[in-house]
Amino acid sequence: MASAAASSAATMFSSATDSCSRRVFLISNLEVRRTWSTCAFLRTSKTINNHARTAASRCSSSSVINDLVEGGREVTSLVHEAAMATEASAKVIDGKSVAKEIREEIATEISRMKESTGVVPGLAVILVGDRKDSATYVRNKKKACESVGIKSYEVHLAEDTSEQEVLKYISGFNDDTSVNGILVQLPLPSHMNEKNVLNAVCIEKDVDGFNPLNIGRLAMRDREPLFVPCTPKGCIELLHRYGVPIKGKRAVVIGRSNIVGMPAALLLQREDATVTVVHSRTKNPEELTREADIIISAVGQPNMVKGSWIKPGSVIIDVGINPVEDSKSPRGYRLVGDVCYEEASKIASAITPVPGGVGPMTIAMLLSNTLAAAKRTNNFE
Ligand code: NAP
Repeated sequence: MASAAASSAATMFSSATDSCSRRVFLISNLEVRRTWSTCAFLRTSKTINNHARTAASRCSSSSVINDLVEGGREVTSLVHEAAMATEASAKVIDGKSVAKEIREEIATEISRMKESTGVVPGLAVILVGDRKDSATYVRNKKKACESVGIKSYEVHLAEDTSEQEVLKYISGFNDDTSVNGILVQLPLPSHMNEKNVLNAVCIEKDVDGFNPLNIGRLAMRDREPLFVPCTPKGCIELLHRYGVPIKGKRAVVIGRSNIVGMPAALLLQREDATVTVVHSRTKNPEELTREADIIISAVGQPNMVKGSWIKPGSVIIDVGINPVEDSKSPRGYRLVGDVCYEEASKIASAITPVPGGVGPMTIAMLLSNTLAAAKRTNNFE
């Protein structure tokens, strides 16, 4: 099926190369469009891509194409898509190096602040229980703090600690002027009420941005949250630093969790994107996602978003971090995103890898929020 369509598309582009004036583009335009979005097609379409490249370069003026062929707009965009597909590999949005750049900027700002006011920002991290992954996250956050000059305060409590005890620590940090940000590592043990615990962090130190007041302000026009949740903030920062236009674009956010999907959708809307949120009850996720210029996926399902979900030229931010079995890896597993990278990178114009995409940005944004908190408290511009 795909190869029949491929061959008709090859004929089409080949004819176009010979003479732009022919109406060959009208042949099964829809069929090609549909097929174009499948990876199988892309893998077997090197020849077509070459023809498309030539066609695109020869017919570089869209006004010429419009004059020559009925439905010129469709054709122009088809040639454009084809030309993008010739790249066969999306630009990698390198979160690791952007995060490094941001950490350097933060370190410079912290030195400037220290010189001028004598104040060093402080971040308190509360870890309850013995989850290995949580312990690793906390260790990484502590290391990151040290690397930029933020003083970190760590409290590690036993799994059976009472909620009251955790609230007591939070209250202590709320009152401590050397602490500018408080982070409670999630998930908490099941006997605790996560809402109660998170609500106890005063809004001025809510560097995770999870307080309902911060989220409410994020959702409202003409209101400014004191903090934006770190992971979605990191996603938008990547788009900015890679010069991806957001205003007026169609964006699809897959996932609607309080910590990633929902705030990511609010942030995109604040930047004037037209946003669709896809979740587990969405009836036609593939079709909706295929309309997106920008996709942010935060689902937690390995390789769920296939090549056929993706519009050629779209930009993909993959938040998902999912372990999958891998006997070749010494750990027996490897991490993959929600998006099938192998397929998507042949269709999208830019994509974040997993790992090395959004992950390092989350920590960089935590440091950025902590610095912002310290600057605000100390009236330092
Ligand atoms: P979560 O709280 O489990 O939320 C998952 C969301 O995905 C929910 O809104 C759920 O819909 C939706 N969903 C689940 N299955 C779906 C499906 N088949 N089709 C469409 N939507 C579906 O997860 P999360 O905390 O947002 O995290 C998501 C992923 O991001 C995880 O892999 C996590 O490890 C990763 N993550 C990465 C970072 C980072 O720094 N890179 C930070 C946080 C999270 P419903 O609302 O309908 O249930």
